[in-house]
Amino acid sequence: MTANAPITQDVLTLPRKLPEGGKTNIVGLTREQLREALVAAGTPEKQAKMRLGQIWQWVYHFGIRDFAAMTNLAKDYRALLAEHFVIEVPEVVSRQISADGTRKYLVRIAGGHEVETVYIPEENRGTLCISSQVGCTLTCSFCHTGTQKLVRNLTAGEIVGQVMLARDDLGEWPKPGEPKDETRLVSNVVLMGMGEPLYNFENVRDAMKVVMDNEGLTLSRRRITLSTSGIVPEIARTAEEIGCLLAVSFHATTDEVRDRLVPVNKKWNIATLLEALRDYPRLSNSERITFEYVMLKGVNDSDADARRLVKLIAGIPAKINLIPFNEWPGAPYERSDWERIEAFADIIYKAGYASPIRTPRGEDIMAACGQLKSATERARKSAREIAAEAGLSG
Ligand code: SAH
Ligand code: SF4
Repeated sequence: MTANAPITQDVLTLPRKLPEGGKTNIVGLTREQLREALVAAGTPEKQAKMRLGQIWQWVYHFGIRDFAAMTNLAKDYRALLAEHFVIEVPEVVSRQISADGTRKYLVRIAGGHEVETVYIPEENRGTLCISSQVGCTLTCSFCHTGTQKLVRNLTAGEIVGQVMLARDDLGEWPKPGEPKDETRLVSNVVLMGMGEPLYNFENVRDAMKVVMDNEGLTLSRRRITLSTSGIVPEIARTAEEIGCLLAVSFHATTDEVRDRLVPVNKKWNIATLLEALRDYPRLSNSERITFEYVMLKGVNDSDADARRLVKLIAGIPAKINLIPFNEWPGAPYERSDWERIEAFADIIYKAGYASPIRTPRGEDIMAACGQLKSATERARKSAREIAAEAGLSG
């Protein structure tokens, strides 16, 4: 793919029915979808609501995967469920633990594809970074995932499943009968792994509905942050249909530079993007938008950039998250020097915006922002191609 290749959403999404045995996976169905599926499988309409509540609690509150363990359901009904349904989360192929405690899971999904999920423990909280696509259609020149062609969208079940497999690994499911433990290991979810979540809107939305449901995984919408490269037509919908916090991969203060870093800017430029963002806090009833800004030496890190950035976002409730560039093999950029990052942060801070510098986590296991990339890629680009797309050399 070249930088000018059409940006396409034409990707394969798996049907909800699993191919083997034709059973439906419960994981990832919204309440309404699960209710309908239960009725279709023979649950009497009158009981459907109650059965739904019971099953939901077993699956999302207790993390149970086996119908036989659902002890408040009659044996016959459990057998009926087992005939029609499975409770499946993607398989963890490998787990790496960084010196700083960050955990990176290589996760296998149907079709043998792989994505990565990263758990970042912090004091009194923990953030799970989940993927929404295998690869990405976009080709941001500083991003490792962008060098991998899009293979397919994740299903809602595969997105919710990443939260569940992390809880499995961390031993975070409460035991029936035991008091609720209020300390949450997975307290926040960020859609900042592989893929562009707004190019897989319905599945991401349905998955987040399940994650936010207040009788299961119960992560509130303020603990979920969706990061987008700027898919303008989906931004208002995100506010209305998901209502989570929004982060935007901004990364540049002129269209000329943003075209090179985030090529989707050629479709929706900075002015168009900002216009869509202005309405987001009101539509989603959230306080502010996070502007992500990757610090690339000599590319977007000057004092003039910092001043332009402040001017551009004037009037938008915002926080600017400065991300020191994380290197990957063949990357055509370097991380800005620390003093440069601090000087940049200072200009933004003095203009009245929070400007935290994101500490790279899990770099030793290639789990930091933008370093994710699965081994099942279809077409690896060479370092030269990447540099050419970035406009750095012929
Ligand atoms: N596709 C979405 C979400 C995934 S990327 C998006 O682009 O927003 C998550 C964040 O990591 C984005 O802000 C992205 O720009 C940033 N990122 C990508 N590659 C990076 C790298 N090599 N170093 C630092 N941050 C990077
Ligand atoms: Fe895709 Fe986001 Fe990487 Fe751009 S930064 S290539 S949108 S994953």
